[in-house]
Amino acid sequence: MKQLHPHLAPVFDEVLHRNPGESEFHQAVFEVLESLGPVVTKRPDYVDAAILRRIVEPERQIIFRVPWVDDDSNVQINRGFRVQFNSALGPFKGGLRFHPSVYLGIVKFLGFEQIFKNSLTGMPIGGGKGGSDFDPKGKSDAEVMRFCQSFMTELSSHIGQYTDVPAGDIGVGGRELGYLFGQYKRLTNAYESGVLTGKGLTWGGSQVRKEATGYGTIYFLDEVLHARGESFEGKRVVVSGSGNVAIYAIEKVQQLGGTVVACSDSSGYIVDEAGIDVELLRDIKEVRRGRIDEYVERRPGASFTAEGSIWSVPCDIAVPCATQNELDEDHATTLAANGCTLVGEGANMPATQGAVRVFASAGVTFAPGKAVNAGGVATSALEMQQNASRDSWTFEHTDERLEDIMKGIHDRCAETAEEYGRPGDYVAGANIAGFNRVADAMLALGV
Ligand code: GLU
Repeated sequence: MKQLHPHLAPVFDEVLHRNPGESEFHQAVFEVLESLGPVVTKRPDYVDAAILRRIVEPERQIIFRVPWVDDDSNVQINRGFRVQFNSALGPFKGGLRFHPSVYLGIVKFLGFEQIFKNSLTGMPIGGGKGGSDFDPKGKSDAEVMRFCQSFMTELSSHIGQYTDVPAGDIGVGGRELGYLFGQYKRLTNAYESGVLTGKGLTWGGSQVRKEATGYGTIYFLDEVLHARGESFEGKRVVVSGSGNVAIYAIEKVQQLGGTVVACSDSSGYIVDEAGIDVELLRDIKEVRRGRIDEYVERRPGASFTAEGSIWSVPCDIAVPCATQNELDEDHATTLAANGCTLVGEGANMPATQGAVRVFASAGVTFAPGKAVNAGGVATSALEMQQNASRDSWTFEHTDERLEDIMKGIHDRCAETAEEYGRPGDYVAGANIAGFNRVADAMLALGV
């Protein structure tokens, strides 16, 4: 582990002490603090105003009981969370994750990352995150609806278009957002479109929001490639996951002339040397909510592997789009040995710190999720703009805006890295550029 700057080490110690057992949160904080040494040297006013010690402490954390009745009339209890981390730049903004692994430490790590990600977009959105340990997998639509209604019954008191604007994340897509919005509308007797993003197109949603995280990820990586005089044309790409982020990342890579040869779900991974058939994948995962091994039954030449790792499949570019810490040191070593030269995080913190160090020493360019996958939340901010003006934009216009935003984020990261003496270091660039904008706002708003 690298040493932290003398001003930052006590901040990290305080985080460890105040948040015992929250390893993902510790990891996310350490990773940001590690980049901020040159910033505190340059900006003693940040230290004087205790910006660092304030930014690692959420403004508000809400934990609540979510009781609901299953199809067999049994009462089930889940736990709900909303961590309102930082509102210096705008209303708290960030998704809701429904997954059995969710606990306070995961929500805090995601909420903390969201502060910097949202800041990097240049848009007026603060950082937050929420979710539940509820597992939508295997539940009927009616069960999902009753759970979402109960979850929103409590959450509704804490959110609002000017306060906190949730969206989707793992386990929360269009179906869940519909049930959540319906319940909010019922409880408040108001059609407050701007309270949630990721809505359906007939009830206040934005074009491109569904595609935005995946498309944005590839727009960002396309900029990285352009900066070194390359493109996706002819590149062999591996994308982990097969959810919303992965599906649209795959689609965009293929549109730009690359070939995605593998993707995965929690049951294993598939390899299709001819290039993943996105329509087939969407039908299996998005429409039928099935398992990825169905792909090989319907596509001759493709293979399914239940054991082992998708990162053993050789590629030029790796795009982890599944979940946190899915790509470790050993996987990174294998990727580098197999000739991979670029890794971009479509998911939030999918690479471990060990993996990031391997990439650095092997000369593999690594682009962190808070920059790479910011297209989702940026398009959420575009959805908020459309809701505020009661307007709806075309797909083409929204997609152009997204592409411009991703170029802007790329350039901000690259220029900041350069300015702080770390050319080509997207981690330092993203952390410093994201932090500086929030820190300046916090400074201006007073203690
Ligand atoms: N869950 C997404 C993320 O990790 C999107 C959040 C949003 O649109 O508010 O950034």
